[in-house]
Amino acid sequence: MKKLGFGLMRLPLIDPENHSSVDMPQFCKMVDLFLKRGFTYFDTAYMYHDGVSESVAKEALVDRHARDSFALTTKLPTFFLKKQGDQERIFEEQIRRCGVEYFDYYLLHNLGEENYKIAQKFKSFQYVSRLKEQGLVRRIGFSFHDKAPVLDRILTEHPEIEFVQLQINYLDWNDEGVQSRLCYETAVRHGKKVIIMEPVKGGRLANVPDEVKKILSDKHADWSPASWAIRFAASLPEAVVVLSGMSDMAQLEENTSFMRDFKSLEQDELDILRRAEAMLRASISIPCTNCRYCTEGCPQNIPIPEYFAIYNEKLKSESKEETLKTALRSLTDKGYGKPEDCIGCKQCERACPQHLVITEYLKKVGESLFD
Ligand code: SF4
Ligand code: SF4
Repeated sequence: MKKLGFGLMRLPLIDPENHSSVDMPQFCKMVDLFLKRGFTYFDTAYMYHDGVSESVAKEALVDRHARDSFALTTKLPTFFLKKQGDQERIFEEQIRRCGVEYFDYYLLHNLGEENYKIAQKFKSFQYVSRLKEQGLVRRIGFSFHDKAPVLDRILTEHPEIEFVQLQINYLDWNDEGVQSRLCYETAVRHGKKVIIMEPVKGGRLANVPDEVKKILSDKHADWSPASWAIRFAASLPEAVVVLSGMSDMAQLEENTSFMRDFKSLEQDELDILRRAEAMLRASISIPCTNCRYCTEGCPQNIPIPEYFAIYNEKLKSESKEETLKTALRSLTDKGYGKPEDCIGCKQCERACPQHLVITEYLKKVGESLFD
């Protein structure tokens, strides 16, 4: 299997503010080109794109291509399990939404200390093992967002798990919060293969400051910053797939061109990324990856990732004040909550895979943007 996977969580949209408005003609063309270039792995989830990612995968991929020409992965949202029977209901819905008889890979979604407790309560590990015995899923694993000791504990208690999906990119590699390196080493120690998510950190490593762009392009003028980030993740020997959430044809063209005959980075290239990491650390603001896990249950309907993106833009000196104000106005005019509307319930913080202290960041955003 080629090492690039198509992540279906940042698809092209008709209306950028409506996450379920997937641009189907463009998405179909992207799927076709991806397969034509020899790539086969697609990654969706129950809640991506406000719940339509699985059904658009059916439309663009499953209904239009032979089942044995691609591998389809989806995930059981442990964080949505409230009562007995929920995981069975969700799985049946996923099979129906995707229009398949089996999934090639099936993951428990977003495990960490808290969601692991839910998975244990509902015996989700036993459930996915049963699905595998019944041939309804081919391989079982989980995606993970927590510290390495938690990963070690889960893998020790569940050796039946075949692979893990980890957040790995060159900025988080040595990060104390994300612990990409330590998690990767833990998975390898347990003999697991690794699927990599967020190699470009939700687009942050595509859109880097000029000083970082310069050291990257001085080495390879024709490599984009995003391609450096994907190459870093794909260079890890136990990485079987690196997911990229491609949002337009240009990104897909680029990624598939350099990942077709992928060659791992050399030591001098890795050294350049270490320098880039240090420069980025000095410039980073709110490290939100725009995954949108936090927005689903916010009782105040606060568009958290949008506010964080506008705040981060404001920190860049080249961003125009008027453009930011227009972006803000377009959110508040639509009736979304303001940062000051936050009631501190912390639902968003429990859902955030990056463990961001969202309530504190919202205060900063409020002071900086709504004065
Ligand atoms: S803490 Fe604030 S932003 Fe987070 S879910 Fe609650 S109301 Fe929404
Ligand atoms: S705040 Fe956290 S959960 Fe919300 S979009 Fe950003 S990274 Fe994702």
